[in-house]
This record gives sequence, C-alpha cells and structure tokens, in this order.
Amino acid sequence: MSQAPKKGGIFQAYLNFNVLYKILIGLVIGAIAGVILAASGVTALPAWISMFGTIFTRLLKMIIIPMIVGSLVVGAASVSPATVGKVGIRVVIIYLITSAIGVTIGLVMGNIFQPHAILAVEAAEKVPATTDQTIWNIIANIIPTSVLSSLVNETVLQVIFFCLVFGLCLSYLKASSDERLKTIAQTTYNVFDCLTEIMMKIVQGIMQYAPVGVAVLICEVFAKNGANVVGALVIVLVACFLGYAIHIVLVYGGLLKIFRIKIGKFVKEARTPFLTAFVTRSSNGTLPTTMTAAENLGIDKEVYAFSLPLGATINMDGTAIYQGVCAFFLVMTCYGRGLTFGEMGMVILLATLASIGTAGVPGAGAIMLAMVMAGINLPIEAGTTLAQAYAMILGIDALLDMGRTALNVTGDLTCTACIAKKLGLLKEDSILK
Ligand code: ASP
Repeated sequence: MSQAPKKGGIFQAYLNFNVLYKILIGLVIGAIAGVILAASGVTALPAWISMFGTIFTRLLKMIIIPMIVGSLVVGAASVSPATVGKVGIRVVIIYLITSAIGVTIGLVMGNIFQPHAILAVEAAEKVPATTDQTIWNIIANIIPTSVLSSLVNETVLQVIFFCLVFGLCLSYLKASSDERLKTIAQTTYNVFDCLTEIMMKIVQGIMQYAPVGVAVLICEVFAKNGANVVGALVIVLVACFLGYAIHIVLVYGGLLKIFRIKIGKFVKEARTPFLTAFVTRSSNGTLPTTMTAAENLGIDKEVYAFSLPLGATINMDGTAIYQGVCAFFLVMTCYGRGLTFGEMGMVILLATLASIGTAGVPGAGAIMLAMVMAGINLPIEAGTTLAQAYAMILGIDALLDMGRTALNVTGDLTCTACIAKKLGLLKEDSILK
C-alpha cells in the first residue's frame, strides 16, 4: 500500500497563515531587532541582510508598470458602451469626482497632521524634479509621443493615458456588430485580463515575501532611529481613519441628502457590506454582499448589476484618501517638507486615475501608492529613505486597508443609490424621503 505524501511542513504552514498577521509580525520583529541593535550601537545591517530588504523593494518596482497596463486596460474595457449611455457616464463621473474629493481630503489630513518620521538618513538626498513646467506643459505631456518609451521610462501618467484610451476603444470593439472585430477584441481583452490575473498572482507571491522584506527594512529604520518612529505611524493611522470618517459624513451623507435618500434605511443595509469589506479587505470579495444590499435597498438591477462590479474595479475613495495621506508622509519623511501645490495637483490626478487601476483585492492600493510616487518623480528605489518610509507604511497596510476597503464599498453603494434615484430606478418608496 503506497503511503500518501506527507502534506504541510513549515513552509506550507507559513503560506497558510494570514498575510495580514505575517506582515504585522514582520514589522514587530524588525522593530524589536532594530531597537536591540540601536541599543548595542549597531546602526547598519550587514550587506547580506540588507539585501533581503532591497529584493523586496525591487520586486515592488518590477510589478508597477505591468500591473497598471493590465488593470487599467481591463478596467476601461469593462465600461460597456451599451450601458454607458444612460447609467454609465453618470456612474463613472460620480465615481471619479468622489475619488478626487477623497484624495483631496487625504491631502488636507496630511497637511493638518503633517505625519512624518524623522529618519536619520540622508535627509535631502535627492532634489525631486519638481516642475518649472507650466500646467499647460504638464497637460500636453500626458500624451506620449512614443508609447514604448513611456513604458520603458516608466512615465506613469503617459502610460495611464494610453491604457485608458486603449481600453475604451477595446470596449467599443468588443460590442461591435461585426463578428470578426468582436472576436478579436474579446481575445485581446482576455489577454489583458489574463495579464492582470498573472500580475495579481505575482503580487500574492510578493506579499508572501513581504514579511521578510518589511522586517529587514523596518529593522534598518529602527536601528538608525530608535523607537521614536512608532508615533509617526500612529499619526498616519489617525489621519487616514479621520479622513475616512470625514468622507463618509460629508461626501456620502451629503450625496444621500442631496438625492433625498433616507439615511437610516441606507445605513441599515450598507452595514453588512461595510463590515464584510472591513474584514476581507477586498471590494471584489464583498461584491455579492454589496449586491444583496442594493437589492434590499430597492435599487433596480439594471443599475446595480452594472455599477457595483464597475465600482469594485474603478471606484476607490478610501484608497484615494490613503494615497493623499501617505504621499504626504513619504515626502515629508524623506525631504522634511510638505508637498508643493504642483505635486498635490499631480497626486490628485494620479490617485484618481490610479483608483481605476487598483484591483479590488487586499493590498492593491499599496502598489498603486508606489505608482503615484513614481508619477511625482519620486520613485521608490532600493536603499533610499523613501524605500524605508514606504516599508513603514507597508507594515501597517493591513490596518489601513481595512478602513479604505470599507469606504470603497460604501462609496460604490452610495453612488449607485444616488444614480438609481436620479433615474427613477429605485423600486421601493421606503428609501425615499
Ligand atoms: N483592498 C482595497 C479594495 O479591495 C484596494 C486597496 O488595497 O486599496 O478595495
């Protein structure tokens, strides 16, 4: 009788253990090791240990461009032209506006709380290429003259622009009445869909490695700076969660009021998706719950069957707030200054567009944060202060992600209810004032 192979082992147990806890444990172990090293007068790790942190930063950088390309093309191609007419345009506009407000709130929180860690490393190591360009130049430069060179040079805004145009045209071809066009468009869509799935798999793999990378990077931070950086992370958490709360009250509360939707009934139904998103940290995973809530609210299926999956893909208000706060934290930590007006404008634009390319899965927003930083000419390079500050954020990302995902999902439901109300597609009177 052949014996079944022994399943499991330490590696399998490691893989099975929740990534959220693993990264937090990595953060704590790295911090403790760093404090011990600092106390014993060691301020730099041996090169072979530092390498593990460098590998992590490089892995993250590696993924940015392919991830934007895949998810933005798929995101834009998901807006079906047939539905765009009545519901789509309105939904997309309200999604983008609320995300832009979200990132603005994040930046306001950043300016108020000024979250930053005082890292004792090359404080002004690099003068960021802040623009002496005019706004008109910046707008014109969004259009690439060579798509390939914008990919190679990682000119994020140009890549975003091209992917959106590409995705939108693809969605038109997919809906073409010409069978040939329809087939090749669907095949192309499948290729990009597959690219996105592959990238998500790679991200999952990187996240399995993240606890090691975070532990080493955090250890370096603590060895150089002692425990005084903990306060900075607490301030980031407070600034983000306060931003989330303000967005819920002002933006969602305001929208429900403007569209005369009963807040009590809405809150009663929105509670379940809110909590599900908080726990799962995935807008996509929460989708069935969000749809049930929409149904219970009396929203016509014609609206929510389109707008909720689209929202889970392109509407990320919580992620946008997080981007605003964290961009501020990173710049302030590395250069001891806030964001310039130009950079803030760029962050609003990038984070709003990035929300289209942020997959509704745990941790996706953190990858997009790296993209936003690259977009304001501050790429996260291995061995820099920026990489260490980014690792600090990543260490608490699970906590930040809970709040931002809950907000992302609530935003989808709020906007959907408002559009349905506007179009007279709310079946039940109970939700109307
Ligand atoms: N986890 C978020 C979501 O699923 C995305 C993010 O990481 O910001 O909506």
